[in-house]
Amino acid sequence: MAEDYPRTQLEMERRFSGGAECRAYLSALRWPQGFVCPLCGGLGLAIRRDLWRCVNCGRETSVMAGTIFQDSKLPLTVWFRAMWHVTSQKSGVSALGLQRVLGLGSYTTAWALLHKLRRAMVRPGRERLGGVVEVDEAYWGGEEFGVRGRQSLDKALIIVAAEADQTGIGRIRLRHIPDTSRATLHGFIHQSIEPGSTIVTDGLPSYLKLEGYVHDRHIQKHQPSDTEHLLPRVHRVISLLKRWLLGTHQGAVAHEHLEDYLNEFTFRFNRRKSASRGKLFYRLAQQAVEVSPVPFASISHHKP
Ligand SMILES: [Zn+2]
Repeated sequence: MAEDYPRTQLEMERRFSGGAECRAYLSALRWPQGFVCPLCGGLGLAIRRDLWRCVNCGRETSVMAGTIFQDSKLPLTVWFRAMWHVTSQKSGVSALGLQRVLGLGSYTTAWALLHKLRRAMVRPGRERLGGVVEVDEAYWGGEEFGVRGRQSLDKALIIVAAEADQTGIGRIRLRHIPDTSRATLHGFIHQSIEPGSTIVTDGLPSYLKLEGYVHDRHIQKHQPSDTEHLLPRVHRVISLLKRWLLGTHQGAVAHEHLEDYLNEFTFRFNRRKSASRGKLFYRLAQQAVEVSPVPFASISHHKP
């Protein structure tokens, strides 16, 4: 379907006032050419507006089955308002903020809802970065952001890739990584950046022997502060990321959930020039029916 999305909150509220309207919208996003059976690829007959039976294998599929909305106890109207609030605010919302604005009974519900939406912010099979790409690592946490118990003494390691767009920044990729070994850094580069691109790094030896890329090593010759100028784009991204984690989320980000926050930051950053916030809502809804269900147990082991 053509990019069809509400432009304003009022439009969103009016259009998605009931579950049937929400399901119709999701159906059009999930099967733009008409229903396709997720099991066998067969065509289907609509039993209801949101339920199909495959003419080939007979399996019945609802629009929510196999998406992040599967098995949710929340009405779709609440999900749609959550998607709207997450995408319409330039910096997003915290779980507490979402709980308040949606009038949700529990913080845990708001928190889980946000984490599920973050999983939908990574598009399956997204393309890799290309051209000239700066790559560097950064730390999150530790005494710099206040120590609360043993866990927070350990810093989390993040790797950042930022495409050059003339003198500015193009798209980015972020990942929470376990170490700075050659296998980890090269693995991230291969998964995130097209072969043949130019990779700009500092002098860290783990980046050596990078095969399939042009490697442009910028080795620091003067005082440590020069690092920022060697890789200006990744350092700009890192400082924006830290500001966002400390601002919107007050730094209350556990290491085991950091990857979800990195995904949200990347989603926002790569669409920062989008003219319409409604378009981000559209992308999020579109990706929400493309990603697999996120069982609560898979995110709820350690709440912040
Ligand atoms: Zn089938």
